[in-house]
Amino acid sequence: MTQTQTDRLSEGLKALKMAAVRNCYGEQAELARREGLSYEAFLLELVERERETRAHNRVQRLLRESRLPLEKDLETFDRDRLPGKVNGLVATLLEGDFLDRAENILAFGNPGSGKTHLLCAIGQELIHQGRRVRFTRCDHLVQELLVAKRDLDLPRVLKRWDRYDALILDDIGYVQHSREEMEVLFSLLSHRYERRSVMITSNLPFSQWEQIFKDPMTTAAAIDRLVHHCVILELNLPSYRLEHSRDQQNIHTQEEPAEEHHDKP
Ligand code: ADP
Ligand code: MG
Repeated sequence: MTQTQTDRLSEGLKALKMAAVRNCYGEQAELARREGLSYEAFLLELVERERETRAHNRVQRLLRESRLPLEKDLETFDRDRLPGKVNGLVATLLEGDFLDRAENILAFGNPGSGKTHLLCAIGQELIHQGRRVRFTRCDHLVQELLVAKRDLDLPRVLKRWDRYDALILDDIGYVQHSREEMEVLFSLLSHRYERRSVMITSNLPFSQWEQIFKDPMTTAAAIDRLVHHCVILELNLPSYRLEHSRDQQNIHTQEEPAEEHHDKP
């Protein structure tokens, strides 16, 4: 190829936003000549590289957009701690089909039982499958919705959240909602009902959700919409933090006598 041709090729690939092809075509062409690849096989190689790079970049973008705490992934989560039934459900959820059915996930359990970590880990896996997930603390989201409502912009904002296949609402009921806050939260749940999934963590069992939604009618209506299509993960587990700190203390107390012994002359 002449220099002009090389320049035009490079420019063209840039204009077409084919960065991966632009980066690797020279090397691949060299390889193709050496190995006697057909034109088609060479082209296939380039197309595959472009697709791989784009898929990778997309996942990176989705991970950034998700605001997920990325250290809470499946690798760092000890699934053996989960009750067998929950573990089975998690395996199914990781396939991601529940998103196509706009099913919800509700994770219940006492503080420290791993609800947030587990839902974040599931969310992260789904992103690796190309799904759109967004993590938010429930109280933060409620504040955002309140602002939108005040600006008469609530419908548009609710619609904007539709781009996410799953919305992880962390700690519903963590703060005592005012009536206005409860109303926007209810609007969100109604809006997503049978449209898109929500994944919720809660320290409060349903029996105490009146603390969140204030009156019995709204509470019943909210629960009804959530559970109509849902998977419930009951994490009746002792706090991981507590157990972990106890383990550390045990190691410490076991070490102490040895140290004392060592210190004696
Ligand atoms: P919850 O949301 O139920 O209050 P978290 O998910 O925040 O609990 O978990 C509390 C801490 O314990 C976090 O640091 C989390 O990473 C860790 N943790 C909880 N369960 C597990 C687990 N099964 N494997 C590894 N770490 C866990
Ligand atoms: Mg939590």
